[in-house]
Order: sequence, then structure tokens, then C-alpha cells
Amino acid sequence: MLTTEQWQAGKNIISTLKHNGFEAVFVGGAVRDYVCHKEANDIDIATSALPNEVKIIFKRTADVGLAHGTVLVIEKQVPIEVTTFRTDGEYTDHRRPTDVKFVRSLEEDLKRRDFTMNALAMTDSFQIIDLFNGQQDLHNKIIRTVGMPIDRFKEDALRMLRAIRFTAQLGFSIEKNTFEAIKSCAKDISYVSIERITAELEKMWLSTNLNIGLNALTKSNLVNYLPGNFRFTHEKWAQLGNPQDVLVCWTFLCLLHDKPNALELARVFKLSNDLKQQINQLVKATEIRYERQYTIDDLYQFDESYLIHAEMLSRIVCSDIELMPIEGIVKRKRSLQIQSIRDLVISGDDLMRWYNKPGGPWLKVALTKIEHAVLHEKVVNDSTEIKEWIMNEFNSEV
Ligand code: ATP
Ligand code: MG
Repeated sequence: MLTTEQWQAGKNIISTLKHNGFEAVFVGGAVRDYVCHKEANDIDIATSALPNEVKIIFKRTADVGLAHGTVLVIEKQVPIEVTTFRTDGEYTDHRRPTDVKFVRSLEEDLKRRDFTMNALAMTDSFQIIDLFNGQQDLHNKIIRTVGMPIDRFKEDALRMLRAIRFTAQLGFSIEKNTFEAIKSCAKDISYVSIERITAELEKMWLSTNLNIGLNALTKSNLVNYLPGNFRFTHEKWAQLGNPQDVLVCWTFLCLLHDKPNALELARVFKLSNDLKQQINQLVKATEIRYERQYTIDDLYQFDESYLIHAEMLSRIVCSDIELMPIEGIVKRKRSLQIQSIRDLVISGDDLMRWYNKPGGPWLKVALTKIEHAVLHEKVVNDSTEIKEWIMNEFNSEV
């Protein structure tokens, strides 16, 4: 979400560049989102100044993508990317230009951009510069390439998936020729790195019109060239709605597979280890619900949010399960005697004192026994009661 400070910092940067005799404007998603009154998330500035000129003009800068002409300018603590007007060289791998050429003309820079709505520019006094009827397309909610769609997708295949992602984010449709071109270039998506595909899919997972995006993904044929055998096209997606949650969407995709395997999904889409573990947990919790109601141990093992998401996912994926009201699950979870071993009133130190013995593997065994007993209400979570119970139950010599 862009703050007033960010816009102000952007205006200051533009005005400084102009003072130094250069052209400078806002470009990209921030302008598009500004025109359609949406919250934008980052500001980009384009300028006729070359990167080394930008670096001389501003005191605080960082090199983030000099080869592409981008310098990060830090203005009053706010970092903003400033990129020199450029045209792209030849595209030989359907993804990245072999080189970029810096130019002094804004028009040339706007021409290389993917869609008319993304080729708008805006001055520091919020005047829109619109060379390709981007405002009209925005008004009509249409995604259309700048120039011939086939050429633009042949140059860079990622643009096809960007178009699909924008349908999901904005609820727009793709202009007919642009859409036909995606269909005919669909297999080129295999030239795009899996990291970029994953990043676009995750933007879709967070979108408010997920089903529009999935529909476009299917009808454009792109879905057939995505890696793995995952069911982006399954009719159950409609029931999922718009969770706007990366974990829930990846898990759902995993569960729709004949053999749900979080590790395989994470491998194919190169997901982080953290996310992999979370998907694995949520798959497990959901599969438990296919089988049975949550037991006390299930309620203890999984965080509340996993229990709730698993309940929701299991209802969609496996239609004949016995429903459990969400409030009931939350209530049962919250009324457990403990939520984790840290909630026990006693610690390893107490045990060592009671048994008059130094620590060792026995300590873990004893603590686990106590944890289980308190959870299952065999003993109250009270120091005296636990002491009496464990000394009876457990001989540390065994
Ligand atoms: P988001 O809201 O996701 O940031 P965005 O349109 O700003 O959307 P960015 O990746 O930040 O996307 O790119 C900024 C701008 O750079 C785009 O608006 C577009 O003008 C241009 N652009 C980005 N990727 C491409 C591409 N693959 N081909 C052509 N132009 C592109
Ligand atoms: Mg952006």
C-alpha cells in the first residue's frame, strides 16, 4: 500500500531530476492503480537521466539493477526505484532481451512496456501521459498489449502469465487478439523460469478474482504447459472462492492431486522450506478430517488456523465428511488444558529436584508423559498434583 510519504518522496525525486535538466515521470503499476483508484504497492520512476547521472544527483543511492538502468534512490528514508528510459535489445530466449539500450525519449520507453494500462506515465503534478489509450482500456477493464500481441509474447513469454494474473487481480478481461495470441504462444511459457511462474501464481493466490484468473489460465491453454500434473482446472476451485491466502491455495492445489504430496508440489514450484512445511501440515490436518473428527491430540498438534483451514478445505475436497462447526473446533481447541508443553506449570528443573538427579534422556520421557497426562486430564496442571502423579507413574531408573 502506498503512503503519502512515498508519493511525496517520488514527487521530490522527480522535481530534483527536472531541476537538473532531465525528464522524469511516474510509470508502471503505481500509475495504473492510481488511475483506477486502487491501492498500489510500489512506485517506479522513469527518467532520461543515465544511471551514473542519477547517482551523482542524489546523495543516497544503491545499485539494484544497473545493467537494466535501475538505481534505488533513498529520499527521506523512502527507497524508490529510478530507471533510465530504455528500449530492449533483441529477445533470443523468449524471456529476456540480450541487452538494453538507454534512450532519452519517454515514448520509446513506454512502447516496450507490456500492456496499455501499464504503459501510462504520470507527471509530478499528477497529469497522465497516455500514448496507447491505456486509460480507455482501464475504463473498459481490458488488458491489451502495446503493439502486436504475438510479437510481444514471442519476445517475452512471461507477459502471457502476467496478463492472466492481472485478470485475477483486477477482474479485467483480455482483449480478443491479445487472448488469441496467448493461445497460440501458450507453449512458450516453458521458457519462463519456474521462480517467475511461481511468483505470478502467488499473486493470483492473493487476488480478489481468483476464479477469473484460473478461467483465463484454462481457456488460454497456458495451464497445459505449466509444470507438474496439477489441477488448476478442477471445478472445485469455484467453491474455494477467493481465500487471498498463499498457503491455502497451494494446499488446495496439492489436495486436488490424485496423490497429494506437499514435498513434490514444493519441489516442482521451488517453494521455500518454510512454506513447504506449512503446506505439509495443512495437508495432514485436512486428510485427518477426511477420516474422522479431530481428536484431542489433533487439536493439540495443530495451530488453530490450520484446524480451521483444514476443516474448510476438507468440506470442499471431500464432500461426504461429517461436518464440524468451526466455532465448535475453536472452542474445543481453546479449552484444552494446555496449548503447548510450555504451558505446563512444572519444568525440567522441578523434575531434577524431585528425582534428585541430573538431566538426561529420562527428563524428556518424563516431561512427555506429564504433557500427555495433563492434556488428557489424567492429572491437573498443578505442581503438587503433577509431582505426586509422576513419582507414582515413572521410575527414572528404567
Ligand atoms: P505490480 O502491481 O505487480 O507491481 P506492475 O505492473 O507494477 O504490477 P512490475 O513487475 O512492478 O509490475 O513492473 C513495472 C512495470 O514494468 C509494468 O507496469 C510494465 O510497464 C513494465 N513491465 C514489467 N514486466 C514487464 C514485461 N515482462 N514486459 C514488458 N514490460 C514489463
Ligand atoms: Mg510494480
